[in-house]
Amino acid sequence: MAQELFPSSFKCDCGHESHFFENTVKEMKRMSQNKKVRLGDDSADNHHTIVFYRGQVIHVICPNLGECIISDFE
Ligand SMILES: [Zn+2]
Repeated sequence: MAQELFPSSFKCDCGHESHFFENTVKEMKRMSQNKKVRLGDDSADNHHTIVFYRGQVIHVICPNLGECIISDFE
């Protein structure tokens, strides 16, 4: 299962890890209170997108696997 790795990284089902600045993730969570927001991982050729909603990370969109639910946030 995809996972949120505190404080500001995410691991996809495919094993890819996306790393962001902690302040970036905090801002995305704040912005996602009333709407879905997306945060792109621009690393090289393995482009993942993290989706936030209602202050939580809900899934990661994987270039290989599609939408992966992030299951074990607390
Ligand atoms: Zn992936």
